[in-house]
Amino acid sequence: MGDCLFCKIVDKKIPAAVVHEDDHTLAFDDINPQAPVHTLVIPKRHVDSVHALDARDEVLLGRLLISCNQVARLKGLVEPGFRLVANTGRDGGQTVSHLHFHVLGGRRMTWPPG
Ligand code: AMP
Ligand code: ZN
Repeated sequence: MGDCLFCKIVDKKIPAAVVHEDDHTLAFDDINPQAPVHTLVIPKRHVDSVHALDARDEVLLGRLLISCNQVARLKGLVEPGFRLVANTGRDGGQTVSHLHFHVLGGRRMTWPPG
């Protein structure tokens, strides 16, 4: 996707603070952190959103969640816990149309979310 911000980060055309990387996923710190730890985990292949996933993406989804887990380990969040968020569409508050999981931690999260 030519003008996708996160595809540009994957292609190293825009810099990012990379936390973890493997063949299929990339994790980097959010530029506007909402918690002491706020890292985004994305597929390297462009996928619009959760709603664009189908059965062919089963393996990719597993890889993404395992990558989230790896971020949690690297950031020391396993014992205290953390929150995973996938804002989806307008009401979900999604602002970047490239699938991403927010890994949030380092403080006690509240519920319900805003
Ligand atoms: P969402 O609003 O759920 O679509 O999440 C998009 C996230 O991307 C927001 O939390 C932004 O702060 C973050 N973001 C936007 N531009 C960048 C960037 N260049 N590097 C890192 N994070 C970014
Ligand atoms: Zn993209």
